[in-house]
Amino acid sequence: MTHADDPRLVEAKAIPMANVVDRLGIVGLKRQSGELIGPCPLCGGRDRFGINLRTGAFLCRKCDLRGGDQIALVRGVQGVDFKAALTWLCGNAPAEIDEAERARRRRKAAEAERKQREAQERYRRKAISDARTIWSKARPGHLGVVRAYLQSRGFTEQLLPEIPTALRFIVEHPYVKKIGRELVTVHRGPCMIAGILNPAGELTAVHQTWVDRDPPHSKARIQFEGEDMPAKLVRGSKKAGAIRLSTPPGSEALVMGEGIETTLTAMVVGHYPNAAYWAGVDLGNMAGRMKKVEGRRYSGLPDMSDRDAFVPPDWVKRLVFIMDGDSDPVMTRAKLDCGLRRAMAVRPGLKAQIIHAGAGVDLNDLLMGKADG
Ligand SMILES: [Zn+2]
Repeated sequence: MTHADDPRLVEAKAIPMANVVDRLGIVGLKRQSGELIGPCPLCGGRDRFGINLRTGAFLCRKCDLRGGDQIALVRGVQGVDFKAALTWLCGNAPAEIDEAERARRRRKAAEAERKQREAQERYRRKAISDARTIWSKARPGHLGVVRAYLQSRGFTEQLLPEIPTALRFIVEHPYVKKIGRELVTVHRGPCMIAGILNPAGELTAVHQTWVDRDPPHSKARIQFEGEDMPAKLVRGSKKAGAIRLSTPPGSEALVMGEGIETTLTAMVVGHYPNAAYWAGVDLGNMAGRMKKVEGRRYSGLPDMSDRDAFVPPDWVKRLVFIMDGDSDPVMTRAKLDCGLRRAMAVRPGLKAQIIHAGAGVDLNDLLMGKADG
């Protein structure tokens, strides 16, 4: 019997990746949008190791431990061959077990998978409900914190006379982090709360930016055990959603950047008359899942089976993505291409383009130069 015929192969691949990680005793990994990220079990490389829970692909960017499934992970971490890894995962070779035992194991694997899916769904529902609670506690942005923060980012009252209704604030908002199994309040203070709406217009997540109490009221510096923590966190399910900063009636163009500030900059520059300005929250959300193409690191082609990716509403005739200057240009470009191609596939006739917001360069100049390309 060859490896490929071994019925345990199907069984091994049905074991959720997270279970294999647990059984292997790999610790310290943190869940980050469908991935586990953290120290490498082989070389210890800090935050260099990642496992994609959906595809099973894993990679350490330090020691190059890599592979694509449960068996490869066991082989890599335990340094054993294919057969031993399979036995470690599924027990003895099939010749030694009967059909009933195999069926029992398959049921067990299916059950584990179902339980994991249910747990994920429960987690998602709880996160959305938390987001709605935060939103309902937040006050309209024109009353406080939001103006002070935006002012610190250069948005004067003259540039931005009206605060978008998508931006609210809470004066005393806890910054809660899950450390191990416990929820720890790491920080507390003023916070800008941006509503993230799904395609149906329902609030499914909030984007939170903690703001420094002291002038000039820029991003808060949050530290935990000597380490800097991000001042911006999303709570809820942001999938396919956006922060709708401005949607003028009769609008036919949608301009979208990753972040609130980038998108607002494009908005106040106002090169696209009567355009809507929405922030896409993050590149992954704007791009959706990308097709894997042999020999290419980033194909830039959308995997159209991803039903959770952002797609512009049907009134959008022109979609403009803003490319930020400060991220990896090749990856960023591929992700934006992926998102635009997806949008064009779903909305035939849609015009799509990318404009650059270069680091330290006036977005206005770039908009003027690139807009008709
Ligand atoms: Zn490593």
